[in-house]
Amino acid sequence: MIKLMYRLSALVPSLASAMKAAAFYKVVETFFMGAPYGVLIFFLDDLLARTLTMEKAWIYTGAIAVSYLLQGLFCRLFTTLAYPVGTELCEQVRIKVGDHLRTLPMSYLSRRNAGDTTALISDDLVMLTLIPRMAFPQFVSAMAMPLVMAPFLFYIDWRLALCALLPVPFALPMLRKCQQALSYGMRRRSLALVEVSSAVIQYVQGMEVVKGFKLAGERFRAFAELLSRFKRINLSLVFRSMPFMLGFQALLDCGFVVLLLYGAYLFLGGQTSLFAFLAFLVLGLRLYEPIKALGSVYEVSQAAEVTVDRLEALMNEKPLPEGAVAKRPASSAIAFENVSFRYGSDSPDVLKQVSFTIPEKTVTAIVGPSGAGKSTILRLIARFWDPQAGTVSIGGVPVSQFTSDALHAQISMVFQDVYLFQGTIFENIAFGAPMAARVSVVNAARTACCHDFISALPEGYETRIGEGGATLSGGEKQRVSIARAILKDAPIVLLDEATASVDPENESQIQQAINGLVKTRTVVLIAHRLSTVTSADQIIVLDGRGGIDAVGTHRELLERSPLYARLWNSRQEALGWRM
Ligand code: ATP
Repeated sequence: MIKLMYRLSALVPSLASAMKAAAFYKVVETFFMGAPYGVLIFFLDDLLARTLTMEKAWIYTGAIAVSYLLQGLFCRLFTTLAYPVGTELCEQVRIKVGDHLRTLPMSYLSRRNAGDTTALISDDLVMLTLIPRMAFPQFVSAMAMPLVMAPFLFYIDWRLALCALLPVPFALPMLRKCQQALSYGMRRRSLALVEVSSAVIQYVQGMEVVKGFKLAGERFRAFAELLSRFKRINLSLVFRSMPFMLGFQALLDCGFVVLLLYGAYLFLGGQTSLFAFLAFLVLGLRLYEPIKALGSVYEVSQAAEVTVDRLEALMNEKPLPEGAVAKRPASSAIAFENVSFRYGSDSPDVLKQVSFTIPEKTVTAIVGPSGAGKSTILRLIARFWDPQAGTVSIGGVPVSQFTSDALHAQISMVFQDVYLFQGTIFENIAFGAPMAARVSVVNAARTACCHDFISALPEGYETRIGEGGATLSGGEKQRVSIARAILKDAPIVLLDEATASVDPENESQIQQAINGLVKTRTVVLIAHRLSTVTSADQIIVLDGRGGIDAVGTHRELLERSPLYARLWNSRQEALGWRM
């Protein structure tokens, strides 16, 4: 538990002293909770010896009343500190993890299971709130109680004191065994929970496909099997640890029974006083209470340790090395020099020694067969990944040399699968420029052809979208994301046009929106519309084997590149081809 507290303090150093203070309050509270029992012994002693006077009765009851008062005071101090510390701990760790995730290469994030990260940040972290407000204070109390009471008990009768404390060294190894069983089980449980979370995400997100292909029964069976496995792991966790937990509690209970017998033996043999016997009967019960609570403390702490292990593993992942150039370069021209890239060490090369330049304030369309690496080129410009060889640069500065803030300030991205955050339409447009005035947001929306449909919504720009909010069509979402890019006013725009599935009216509005975007910027786009391709300043044709087939304007390429001519013709014929 102490180690766990050190690890938590290292994760959130600002809360370390508050966590210690909360534990201190809990120990003092526990002490004053036990103090009335001590007073009661003296009270009973006087009563039995017929030496109780009214004066003494006032003193005893006064002492008990003061104990209760102080217990209440420390209970309040503890509660008002420990509960906020618990939630603050959770919040700060979430912020830290979120911040760290932002700095990691996308290769890490794509490798990592969405269910794992979701389970870790949402559910598992909640377990940590129990450490400062429950587990640690109870642990400290359980440790402090025998230490505080031992001298007192030894003073009254050393034989009974030994007898009272005897079960503790036998019970603690039992607890250790229980802890080991819990540790193993919690790790298995945590892995199984990740699988369940991933399955829930996939099942819910893929519901359209599942229904469309009439796979509901089959997919649900797979999901139900995972749930039943999770249940089995949970039960085995309980069954494995339970014998040790019961053994631990039974040993402590036996200790009290032995104390009772031994006390009676000594008292009846005249070897100890009634006072000592009574004292041990009353205090013996109190002595074991906090120690017994260690069982549930260990259960919580094991679950928290598994969470902290996973958190530390995530926090130890190395961020993308951050560059030092914080200034925008003079030009927004983009250059690829001998760039080779693959997604993983055992994946094939997507790009092989690719070189090209994109002059500033021009529109460059990237075309090529599916899987040729069009999106990959956009991702390398935004430095979601670093290439294994070669350099990607903006204005002559390699993208890896910019600070991430400087790099992202230069780039606006409009992707096909637009992500709108929970919040109002206004907030979504102002996402990249949170200080933007309302008039700028509305102007950007007008240029992106979304002002009309937004104004037609009952709550206009204040309409909530995202989960639990209004739903927008694919074309509307893309126009909102174009408005976001217009407002951000970055010199480079990376754009993956919405696919041809958009209806003609939406298509012409998206085209208008894109026209509003491209005027003064360097635009690199994956084009799906014929008009965008033909009007581009240059077109880069990827050959689908990791290289570039040709670079030129639409007219030049129709003459020079058979691949481009073929792609163009099939696009015109079927409109199903992705350029
Ligand atoms: P499309 O037109 O079908 O969208 P594209 O030309 O944009 O294709 P990319 O998305 O750049 O192609 O993908 C190029 C190759 O890299 C493909 O073979 C793809 O399977 C692979 N790939 C893409 N993203 C990843 C990823 N995150 N991890 C591993 N491989 C990936």
